[in-house]
Amino acid sequence: MDGTTREHINPANPSQMIGYTVPAIAEEVNEAVKHAKSAFSQWKQLSPVERGEVLRKAADILEAQSQDIAETATKEMGKRLIEMKGEVLRGASILRYYAQEGMRKLGEVLPSANSQNTLYSVRVPLGVISVITPWNFPVAIPIWKIAPALVYGNTVVWKPSQETGITAVKIASVFEQAGLPPGVLNLLNGSGEIVGNALVEHPETAAITFTGSNRVGRELASKAVAQNKKYQLELGGKNPVIVLEDADLDLAAKLTVEGAMKQTGQRCTATSRVYVEQSIYDPFIEKLLGHTALIKVGDGLNEAVTMGPVASKKQFDTVTSYIRKGLEEGAEILYGGNALYDPVYHGGYFIEPTIFGQVTNEMTIAREEIFGPVLAVIKVAGYNEALAQANDTIYGLSASLFTTNLNKAFDFIKNSEVGMVQINGETGGAEPQAPFGGMKESSSGTREQGQAAMEFFTAYKTVSLTT
Ligand code: NAP
Repeated sequence: MDGTTREHINPANPSQMIGYTVPAIAEEVNEAVKHAKSAFSQWKQLSPVERGEVLRKAADILEAQSQDIAETATKEMGKRLIEMKGEVLRGASILRYYAQEGMRKLGEVLPSANSQNTLYSVRVPLGVISVITPWNFPVAIPIWKIAPALVYGNTVVWKPSQETGITAVKIASVFEQAGLPPGVLNLLNGSGEIVGNALVEHPETAAITFTGSNRVGRELASKAVAQNKKYQLELGGKNPVIVLEDADLDLAAKLTVEGAMKQTGQRCTATSRVYVEQSIYDPFIEKLLGHTALIKVGDGLNEAVTMGPVASKKQFDTVTSYIRKGLEEGAEILYGGNALYDPVYHGGYFIEPTIFGQVTNEMTIAREEIFGPVLAVIKVAGYNEALAQANDTIYGLSASLFTTNLNKAFDFIKNSEVGMVQINGETGGAEPQAPFGGMKESSSGTREQGQAAMEFFTAYKTVSLTT
């Protein structure tokens, strides 16, 4: 520890300090990796079923402490308590899913040309895994990386976002209470530049799993390649929705608003562009604005609130600068657009849900990830134009089409350049048994979740046994 402390403040009320963490120093990365390496030799000897049992206990503990952990995270990064509680419970169900994975097949028997030979493959752990996570899902993202890493026999050094270091301490403590042996999971709070970087460059880790921005992801990938390390990156998104004239417009408007504004737009899978067929543009906009007007902005601890603050001053400055950029480039605000400085908001980082019309695909607000409650609406002549514009991006995480036309639905499934496609649903991911990830610059390396997790966190060992 470098002797300094980091204060964590409540983004809904920045005068409220909710606690502090003590950042690690680069040398402690060495120590953590050393502990993880030493614990690996024991942990890998347990059966996956035994390791799964620890995850199952962790799930029970997480569930029992869900209120406290969710309140901490809400105060730390602003997500509404109800959403945060949902995320903690999702963390518990991910733990249970991977506990079950410990009881499923871990290899296969293959036919051999030699009748005396038993030929089979078995999945073995990699070693020490570096886990680096963002602040926007401070519970679920770490757990969906740590749980599969552990059940398949690896040990972990985890660097969470420094924005959510207190929540991270509580999550690590859940694993400890569940009986995870010392050294199997090692938490290092601290900055990406110092601790994250030292972890990425550490020669004795076997693989890196990272969720975060494209800027950091790119840097990290080149370092991983230089060290010949396995890596998995989940990065940004600019997720489009297309609404066709035959769609259920009410449903499309409701789910577009939810997709854009849920978690104050701070989801990698948040809807950030909506392409609307010109014939239904006006009625769709009316419904879109009607649903947006129902949003009540405020402190996420208040049950009546439906949209919390953005997570930090940094996020606040970034999102408001994108709103200014949209106006400068000629887009028109259809709803919101203001930061909320009213004293009732305690100077918190609140931004109105914001909807831009008169947007073209070339504008910055249609091209760059904003990561805030901002939606760009783009009028199109029809499906083909919408598809071409939706695909015209460096990102490829999730996309959604609202239609009742089966042919267009199948065409969209085939031709939308994303990893996760929805028909008549909001942009987003899926349950833990389904692969999660994107195409183009939204992801790199193996997908997360489901069978893809086993691909990443294990290596094949082929065995030829002759009797
Ligand atoms: P970020 O700035 O890239 O940070 C992510 C993590 O990387 C943090 O722990 C950060 O540490 C660390 N880091 C920063 N610089 C580093 C370096 N040089 N070496 C190693 N680690 C470093 O991203 P964020 O702002 O936390 O998260 C928002 C981004 O995550 C968005 O782009 C969003 O789309 C993406 N995201 C993607 C998914 C997905 O599944 N595709 C899911 C959620 C979020 P510190 O910040 O603590 O310094």
